Amino acid sequence: MAWLLPRLLLACLAALFGFVIGVAVRAATGLDSLALGLGSATGVSLLLIVDAVRGNRLLNWLRGTQQDSAPRDTGLWGELGYRVERAMRDRDRALARGRLELEQFLSAIEASPNGVLMLDIKEHIVWCNHAAADHFALDPKRDLHQRITNLVRAPAFVAYLQAGRYSEPLVLGNGRGPGTLSIVVREYGDGMRLVLSLDITERVRNEAMRRDFVANVSHEIRTPLTVLSGFIETQQNLPLTTAERDRVLVLMTQQTQRMQTLVADLLTLAQLEGSPRPGPDRWVGLDGLLLRVAADAEALSAHRHTLRLKPATGVELAGIESELLSAIANLVTNAVRYTPDGGEIEVTWRVLEGGSGELAVVDTGLGIAREHIPRLTERFYRVDGSRSRETGGTGLGLSIVKHVMQRHGGELLIQSEVGKGSRFRLVFPAARVRHANDTPLGDEAAFSGGAISADH
Ligand code: ADP
Repeated sequence: MAWLLPRLLLACLAALFGFVIGVAVRAATGLDSLALGLGSATGVSLLLIVDAVRGNRLLNWLRGTQQDSAPRDTGLWGELGYRVERAMRDRDRALARGRLELEQFLSAIEASPNGVLMLDIKEHIVWCNHAAADHFALDPKRDLHQRITNLVRAPAFVAYLQAGRYSEPLVLGNGRGPGTLSIVVREYGDGMRLVLSLDITERVRNEAMRRDFVANVSHEIRTPLTVLSGFIETQQNLPLTTAERDRVLVLMTQQTQRMQTLVADLLTLAQLEGSPRPGPDRWVGLDGLLLRVAADAEALSAHRHTLRLKPATGVELAGIESELLSAIANLVTNAVRYTPDGGEIEVTWRVLEGGSGELAVVDTGLGIAREHIPRLTERFYRVDGSRSRETGGTGLGLSIVKHVMQRHGGELLIQSEVGKGSRFRLVFPAARVRHANDTPLGDEAAFSGGAISADH
């Protein structure tokens, strides 16, 4: 009520002024009623004029942008201006705070890898983040306020949105590519809908790979098991001679060995995937590894091939001995298995520019058609299934080699020509190669086909 005193003072001042005017009029005219009328009218007019001027100042300020502060005044008008200005500033501050919170909230949703899309009651897009725009092939600005079903025309999506039964998510192809989306709709407010989309391409691919893998493993194991149970039945039901029984036992042993090799390869793969990357400080002598690999290869070849498998490299590789041995052995035994009798198999080592090193296994065998090469390191991928199985292959060898090389920071490169032979190269990074003397390079121009990295 601080404004009341100035107001009373002003009223008194106006009354005094009116009184003075009244006294002056009475002295001049001698008429009491005229003096009273003019005195009162002057007092009231003075009050009204002062109020009009002060009110107009405040009104002018209110009509403007209110950037500067309200007109400073005393009494009622001053108090009114101050209160109005404070209410406005409070409202502006609350609005700015609300806007900031909304922006932060929207940036948080924007940062989400999941798509978020808001629809109004008529399915018009109210807002969407970039992930949703990407999933549904929308333009977040241009497509705003458009009806979603005019833009995303996939019949499954339109039907799902319009059916209104959102308890189960919808699985849909990605609007921009071959991927897969999982879409969930939630209703909120007055008929508004929130469409959440999640890119599950990787998950779907992994599930398919796992299914394929289980199917492949089951198939690989079922085949020798079927053969074994057939032999067991034969032994039980047919009277076999000793020679026949010995023959059956040899065949049964072969099938058992096949299963053992398969299980061993599967365990190796699982171990490679589950264990940490080999450190760069455990050094393994390459020549020692090659000697061991050569002994097995010579036994497998049984003098059917010309083998040059033991170059004196004087090199040490940083990594895990069993893994390196497995990678090299897989390549060399493959070379023996896929090279017809009389062919040649050679292992060479050379140091590349920058200090990295390359171990090459070269054969003059069957060779591989170009279209198969990028797929060779897929699990269970075989160019010729029957030859692979006949020679004891599991279809996992090159997959193991690729994993070992990846874990050692290197790569597997494959060159091959049908009828001429193949060159499998293991390239080790400089940090994992340590050598005493450089070894002469191998013959680089043996194959015309370009190298294809097996790292896919
Ligand atoms: P497998 O156990 O069948 O040999 P791998 O993963 O070791 O499985 O090899 C995959 C396929 O690559 C083989 O089935 C074979 O067709 C082909 N392959 C591998 N090495 C050679 C080679 N040196 N010469 C010709 N073909 C090869």
